[in-house]
Amino acid sequence: MSRPTPKSFHVKSFGCQMNAYDGTRMAELLEAEGMTVADSADEAELIVLNTCHIREKAAEKVYSDIGRIVKKARGSQQPMIAVAGCVAQAEGAEIPRRAPAVDIVVGPQAYHNLARLVADAAEGRRALDTDMPAASKFDALPKRRRQGPSAFLTVQEGCDKFCTYCVVPYTRGAEISRPWAAIIDEAKALIDAGAREITLLGQNVNAWTGEDDKGRLQGLDGLIRVLDGLPGLARIRYTTSHPNDMSDSLIAAHGTVTKLMPFLHLPVQAGSDRVLKAMNRSHDVASYLRLIERVRAARPDIAISGDFIVGFPGETEAEFEETLAVVRAVNHAQAFSFKYSARAGTPAATMEGQIAADVMDDRLQRLQALLNEQQHGFNLATVGTRCEVLIERDGKRPGQRIGKSPWLQSVIVEDGPAIGELVTVDIVAAGPNSMTGAIVAGQRAA
Ligand code: SF4
Repeated sequence: MSRPTPKSFHVKSFGCQMNAYDGTRMAELLEAEGMTVADSADEAELIVLNTCHIREKAAEKVYSDIGRIVKKARGSQQPMIAVAGCVAQAEGAEIPRRAPAVDIVVGPQAYHNLARLVADAAEGRRALDTDMPAASKFDALPKRRRQGPSAFLTVQEGCDKFCTYCVVPYTRGAEISRPWAAIIDEAKALIDAGAREITLLGQNVNAWTGEDDKGRLQGLDGLIRVLDGLPGLARIRYTTSHPNDMSDSLIAAHGTVTKLMPFLHLPVQAGSDRVLKAMNRSHDVASYLRLIERVRAARPDIAISGDFIVGFPGETEAEFEETLAVVRAVNHAQAFSFKYSARAGTPAATMEGQIAADVMDDRLQRLQALLNEQQHGFNLATVGTRCEVLIERDGKRPGQRIGKSPWLQSVIVEDGPAIGELVTVDIVAAGPNSMTGAIVAGQRAA
């Protein structure tokens, strides 16, 4: 049955920065097709749920969101519903079977076809695309055109690591590195569109490799060095990295590239060599700690961030204590921590020794207590320093603004600097999750 082609849309992204990036690209694509951004999901004629599949709860959330949309629309024209992202890739045709209200299912490597899928759905045709085409979706996406001061730029996608608990290699496919020229062009377009800071994204961003414009093989550091020279760009970041892809030259770049921010997100996941082996992380604790030492030698004030999983199948209390020991040894500026979540189709889901939920809850609480203490300690140690803050958005009070320090801390300032301005501040106070800064008179950076 045909239906009117939607004129307005709303994209809701869940999960990681890569999904946030994909969500922005889908919005730009729909705008380029003449559709407008609705003020809210309730007013949109097309709702795109850009989903995350990393944990059970995240995947189930999609179906409850669909239920809410359908319920809200009862008695009026129901919006067209598109499910995108990693749940779309993992569950495909199962989604409209389970939720008939869904009109479109599109995977992370196929969303450049979203406009065609909207036309198919409007004509009442089946609109499902979870292909992983050889040709890159990026070539079919419109030029970047909407930016705040801080932008994401995907340079690498997919993963060949196959950690035993992770669905990403199945939902995002094999590792691919985007071509050098395409990345530089997109970076320039982002700067023209107002970005002062660019975060390079990849599931294993530090595995990026490619030939530069002179045919020389480069690693991520080579790309960072060229971005460092782009006028108008003030800051460079990258995430998410794998310990095994931290090259000597990338570590060295932290000590020599001015615009590369002193922040490194380097997941370790667990502190026991037996658990790391069962996770197929392909490195041990000692090599990880040596890596952190080398990065700190290159950039002593660097902020280290990590990812941790508690309750991996078979994890003993002693092995969990080893995770706490690694956390103490690294002393994180910030970190993400999760309970192990069995994902269908991953080797760990059928491993012996699945841990009871209450044991996982207890371990997560103890780990997060330590991580929060470390984060607060890192923030307190920044009090009394002077640094630049990139203003990103309005605060609660008139004239109040919130920005990011070089160490990716949230900093609250008054006196109304402009969004996108880099201001020099003295850090005067610190809380567990944010800092207070006083703008240094006469030192408002370019
Ligand atoms: S490195 Fe491991 S955890 Fe990270 S995306 Fe790849 S398989 Fe998943």
